[in-house]
Amino acid sequence: QGLYLFETIDSTHTYVSNNLSTIDHGSVLLAYSQTAGRGRRGRKWSSPIGKSLSLSIVLKEFAAQMKPTLLTQLTAAALQQALSETGLPIAIKWPNDLLINRRKVAGVLTEAMFERQVLQAITIGIGINLNQSQTDFPTEIHTKATSLALETEAPFFADKLIAQFLQYFEQFYQDYQQSLDPEPFLSICRQESAVIGEIVTVVQGDKRRDVEVLGIEATGELLVRDLSSQEQMTLISSEVSLRNP
Ligand code: ATP
Repeated sequence: QGLYLFETIDSTHTYVSNNLSTIDHGSVLLAYSQTAGRGRRGRKWSSPIGKSLSLSIVLKEFAAQMKPTLLTQLTAAALQQALSETGLPIAIKWPNDLLINRRKVAGVLTEAMFERQVLQAITIGIGINLNQSQTDFPTEIHTKATSLALETEAPFFADKLIAQFLQYFEQFYQDYQQSLDPEPFLSICRQESAVIGEIVTVVQGDKRRDVEVLGIEATGELLVRDLSSQEQMTLISSEVSLRNP
């Protein structure tokens, strides 16, 4: 296992994919700024120098049942538990965002990494907003993003949070690897969900539909009911974004 520390880097995930063969299972990469941080489907993740934290964990030992979707849920649950130790109300917006009062404070990005079409590793990245002021965020997310410093009204030091997150993550991961039962972390995702019981707009490509969120399935998929057809369906995390209607 290795610990890789970067003051600034283009993207921790890009570093992992370029150095895959030399990075051991369980290695952790930490960066205090990314110049090309990524979100899902090529979206940008803003992480200005000294104000945010990016952490990636490289996994090379996992059972076939441990799908990336479920590992995203596992990570969101670990991050929810660690962030809650600040005393702030932390909700999980399925599948990969952590919210405080509906504003995004952290996000999870899980990527499967292949070499010659063989799965080599799953890299899980988290981005946490630590010390941004509202104007540090790009204009289009001013009202959608928040930082731990904004919420606690004091500069935020991340050392304890990093240690707590890694402890929760390791505990959930080891238990899951042994039992292959996702319920312990899925029950946190359900209990702390920002969307279960809510009406949300599902955006899939250029299609939008309003649904009521009913729950999270054992596969990590979201169970919803379409408000116009009344039909129940499950949503796959890699394909959709949820918005407030
Ligand atoms: P959304 O969160 O809008 O539903 P998504 O879940 O598909 O979209 P993610 O990959 O989770 O997208 O995150 C990328 C999006 O998050 C960006 O498009 C931007 O709107 C927003 N974003 C980027 N940087 C930050 C940040 N530091 N804090 C909060 N939100 C951010």
